[in-house]
Amino acid sequence: MLRPVFGLSEPDLERELLRKGVGALAAGRASCSDCGRTPLVGERVHFFDHDVVVCELCRAGHGGPPERSEEVRHSERGHTVRLRVRPAA
Ligand SMILES: [Zn+2]
Repeated sequence: MLRPVFGLSEPDLERELLRKGVGALAAGRASCSDCGRTPLVGERVHFFDHDVVVCELCRAGHGGPPERSEEVRHSERGHTVRLRVRPAA
């Protein structure tokens, strides 16, 4: 059995790492200001006054057109491998 380092046992360390990971995920995503739901990838979100983000389901409650609308994109967009044409030597 491993000896606890800095007073943390193995289950405590696992729990702390999980807590940090979940916190990092939650920090990088936008949620609807009305219902608190995180919009799904591909769903349209609408921005009203002062960058208030509203999901498609809550849009009807705001009335009037939004300032802008965007499609929710996957977090890995732009990080995939792209095929490139190698220049002739
Ligand atoms: Zn909503």
